[in-house]
Amino acid sequence: MDTPNDTTQTAVGVKSEPVNLLGLTLTGLEDYFRAIGERPFRAVQLLKWIHQRRTTDFSAMTNLSKGLRTRLAAEAIVQLPEIVTTQKSTDGTIKWLVRVAADNCIEMVFIPDQRRGTLCISSQVGCALNCTFCSTARQGFNRNLSSAQIIAQVWLAKGLLEQDSGDRRVITNIVLMGMGEPLLNFENVVDALELMLEDNAHGFARRRVTLSTAGVVPKIDALRQRCRVSLAVSLHAPNDRLRDELVPLNKRYPIRELLAACRRYVQDDAREKVTFEYVLLAGVNDSQQHARELAALLTDLPAKVNLIPFNPFPNSGYQCPPAPVIDDFREVLMARRIMTITRKPRGGDIDAACGQLAGEVQARSRRVRLRNANHLATPGKATVTPPAEQLQS
Ligand code: SAH
Repeated sequence: MDTPNDTTQTAVGVKSEPVNLLGLTLTGLEDYFRAIGERPFRAVQLLKWIHQRRTTDFSAMTNLSKGLRTRLAAEAIVQLPEIVTTQKSTDGTIKWLVRVAADNCIEMVFIPDQRRGTLCISSQVGCALNCTFCSTARQGFNRNLSSAQIIAQVWLAKGLLEQDSGDRRVITNIVLMGMGEPLLNFENVVDALELMLEDNAHGFARRRVTLSTAGVVPKIDALRQRCRVSLAVSLHAPNDRLRDELVPLNKRYPIRELLAACRRYVQDDAREKVTFEYVLLAGVNDSQQHARELAALLTDLPAKVNLIPFNPFPNSGYQCPPAPVIDDFREVLMARRIMTITRKPRGGDIDAACGQLAGEVQARSRRVRLRNANHLATPGKATVTPPAEQLQS
């Protein structure tokens, strides 16, 4: 639920409000303990209790002194958002609606396949980027998720899947491909990523955690410095003229600058590749010429391409190309030695495929609220992309 701690995590709590320890990294917890006069090694104990033993009750944390347990109970909290609904697809995909504030919900999706289980999580309530083919854009933007609300999605999904299947390791990959632009919520996202990677918390390997961005160039460099996870970039067009239209952020960070940042991101690891996502929109970006242009752009980059057949939503104005067009597009790239996968939609029967997820976003902008009220867009629709096919480990 919404507390002042939910929007900005501070290492040291204000006395009157309990600090939500769920979103604090190892360093954040060390600072917290120092500030309350405790030894910083307590941080590792707390991380293990919270993220590995999944304990939210300080009184059960038996390796802490009684005094500290009492103090934490008075001054701190481990607070998780509430699961509102669960839906299961016939193909095994599970979609959860998660309440992050009184009038705002996000969704997360679990996509199992033979070799892996991918959890797709959100970083913001809504999105401010206005990509023309994306239903999240129609909802407008409400707020950033706190680091606690981001890592909570992993915490909650693990527990829910364990209840379901009894298998703790069922999540093998995490992708930030749900609602929002993660690099525009940089600090909270980096804290949550650190908790995903931290051995004393969730312990995922870097290559199994993927952040997808529409291309916030300076933050791609910052991510490389701070927390280098796998990078996916939503490209969607092979030239600036078309990309300016589809992904308006391109006017600020054009393709050449974006690709240079991608190159820098992977430059000192010969095995690493950037994944480029490309939504195929019939008659817009799906011709053989577009494919050739795309191949030319990516030839000297360690890249792989994920083709995402467009998932229509009401009044989108776009259509998905027919299967042969998608196959031909892929052939052009493959013939030029660019590893290309066509992502197959998952969870269609529960509206969990790309562009089909329903969250609840109270847009900040009056214009967007009015537009949604007039049903020009489907109210409560948000986009989360099922990513399972994209991530080669
Ligand atoms: N803002 C980030 C994270 C969102 S990831 C980003 O842009 O990368 C969600 C992915 O799904 C993006 O690649 C997005 O462009 C794609 N997508 C959005 N709407 C879609 C739709 N209707 N059909 C298919 N893919 C869509």
